Amino acid sequence: MATPVLQVRNLTTRFKTERGVVTAVDNVSFEVAAGETLAIVGESGSGKSVTSMSILRLIPSPPGRIENGEILFDGKDLLKLNEDEMRAIRGDRIAMIFQDSMSSLNPSITIGKQIAEPITLHRNASWNEAYEKARDLLSMVQIPDAQSRLSVYPHQFSGGMRQRSMIAMALACQPKLIIADEPTTALDVTVQAQILDLLKDLTQKAQTSMILITHDMGVVARYADRVAVMYGGRIVEQGPAREIFNRPAHPYTQGLLASIPRIDSDPSQPLPAIEGMPPDLSALPVGCAFAPRCPKATRECEASRPALAKVSEGHLKACFNT
Ligand code: ADP
Ligand code: MG
Repeated sequence: MATPVLQVRNLTTRFKTERGVVTAVDNVSFEVAAGETLAIVGESGSGKSVTSMSILRLIPSPPGRIENGEILFDGKDLLKLNEDEMRAIRGDRIAMIFQDSMSSLNPSITIGKQIAEPITLHRNASWNEAYEKARDLLSMVQIPDAQSRLSVYPHQFSGGMRQRSMIAMALACQPKLIIADEPTTALDVTVQAQILDLLKDLTQKAQTSMILITHDMGVVARYADRVAVMYGGRIVEQGPAREIFNRPAHPYTQGLLASIPRIDSDPSQPLPAIEGMPPDLSALPVGCAFAPRCPKATRECEASRPALAKVSEGHLKACFNT
């Protein structure tokens, strides 16, 4: 098999807070193959964003610190690069799309300039060339009348158009990997689907790998090739998307799947939600972090923590009882 584009091994990221040390990402390992979309799914606070910020080395320090692990990209350990080398990779070989386009776009710079800038920076293009490329990118993300849109400011765009511009910006330097962190969560459902379809289509055409971070299993079902399920800073299940949907092995994954609407579900009945609250990362139990909410928990689950173990080829779960 070809070398994966990204290999994250035993990544641990902690924050020092007033309430104590928070292990936001705890010994997390996964890979992303060329051209594939890996979804990282989990409730709010499970460590998804800290994982992606760790890959890009954007963890605010203090209070945060990557304490352990390797992040191999293109054969290089990103954790060993200096800040200049890292800056050359960010926005060029690895691009990021955030949930909140209003805070990731600069409000006082035109859309055209914001897309063109990384092209001048990473590709040594002249501003004229970069603006031409920016216009082509805006057309590619299906923004009509791209030429005149180059000179508008972010607030003149709708949320959907801003998210399309973010995609254009992410694709500007033909990255090998795009990390999209809840890229459409702030948008309404119809626009969400349009934008995710577009993102999937463009990354597929360019054979770009993607990490798609979401709390929505519906999004995972539609767009992911493989899935990593996070709970309490750890991966509790990982595998091919089809396998995860057909044979979810962890009770948490089973709970997440039960909460997505199905064509055959009775619309008058509420969907079952997972009861209870996500764990406090500064005071994780010694056993399985999901045990307090788990319908299948036994005494063993409270006493010790299950390690990830093989279910079938490429499918791992961290559970004693399924
Ligand atoms: P999500 O899965 O919703 O993206 P995050 O990765 O953003 O979750 O955060 C996981 C946990 O990491 C948070 O619940 C919080 O405890 C901790 N955390 C994240 N950022 C910081 C920070 N800047 N300072 C302190 N703790 C943080
Ligand atoms: Mg997040």
